[in-house]
Amino acid sequence: IKDRKDISYQFYSHEDTIRMLEDKAMEDEFKHSLENNCFEVWYQPKYDPETERMVGAEGLIRWRDEKGNVIPPGKFIPLFERDGLIKVLDEYVFRKVCMQQLEWQKQGKEIIPVSINLSRASLYFDSVVSRYQQIADEIGVKTHLVPIEITESAAIDNDNIKGLADKFHDNGFPLLVDDFGSGYSSLATLNMKCFDTLKIDKSLIDYIGDFSGERLLEHTILLAKELGLCVTAEGVEREEQVDFLKQMKCDSIQGYYYSRPLPKEEFEKLLLTA
Ligand code: C2E
Ligand code: CA
Ligand code: CA
Ligand code: CA
Repeated sequence: IKDRKDISYQFYSHEDTIRMLEDKAMEDEFKHSLENNCFEVWYQPKYDPETERMVGAEGLIRWRDEKGNVIPPGKFIPLFERDGLIKVLDEYVFRKVCMQQLEWQKQGKEIIPVSINLSRASLYFDSVVSRYQQIADEIGVKTHLVPIEITESAAIDNDNIKGLADKFHDNGFPLLVDDFGSGYSSLATLNMKCFDTLKIDKSLIDYIGDFSGERLLEHTILLAKELGLCVTAEGVEREEQVDFLKQMKCDSIQGYYYSRPLPKEEFEKLLLTA
């Protein structure tokens, strides 16, 4: 037995051991952070290019460390995705956004949908829809005010995506395909009949300015619209992109051109009061 231990030990390099310790520390810190409100939801507005009005927003997670630095999700989400903590975090963000919507309602602010992200892992827990519905009910927020963003790749991988989408719809949640056009994109996604809105990824938006790229984008938008989908463009940074998307009657635009994601206090200044 002792020998075996020695053998199995050899499978781990020094780096692996350090990595595991770091992961463990990360997990502990996750729990500590959750309990101490170190996770914040920031909000990035979505604008209708025609009217220049804010028509929605996306809630995006931020982690504030002990020194007050803001850590972007790219730094910690991949890790949380590996060990399942992401499900806890997704639900936390959903709950926060619901409570925020209620607070803004009470303050007489204009009410716009604020979408949240569901990771691949969250889609694999069976009761996700009833659970989210129950949270929204408990808080007293209509589910149509908290649309759900699912990345295209997670949707394609999930054999049960149609069943899930039906359940979300039965409970009033609008569904968005996120990151459409990044990675291995499939025209079949457009015909899944699961989604209400197509969010076109920055990598396609960056085609604007290139002749054939623009034709591809143009026809993607036309096709999506013809199939009854709303179209949102993300990662829009430049005026020529806004002009193009406006011409294409894109329903909404999200990107640094209009605004970066903002902390709650800054974002709510943009909301009109009724
Ligand atoms: P995403 O869902 O595609 O969110 C959009 C990301 O693009 C955000 O990055 C946003 O800050 C960034 N962005 C927006 N406009 C522009 C632009 O004009 N130019 C550029 N270069 N970037 C722009 P962020 O906040 O760092 O989030 C990164 C990713 O982390 C998100 O990508 C999403 O996949 C994930 N994420 C964020 N919050 C959550 C969450 O609560 N749950 C889950 N599962 N994932 C989340
Ligand atoms: Ca998203
Ligand atoms: Ca996206
Ligand atoms: Ca993305």
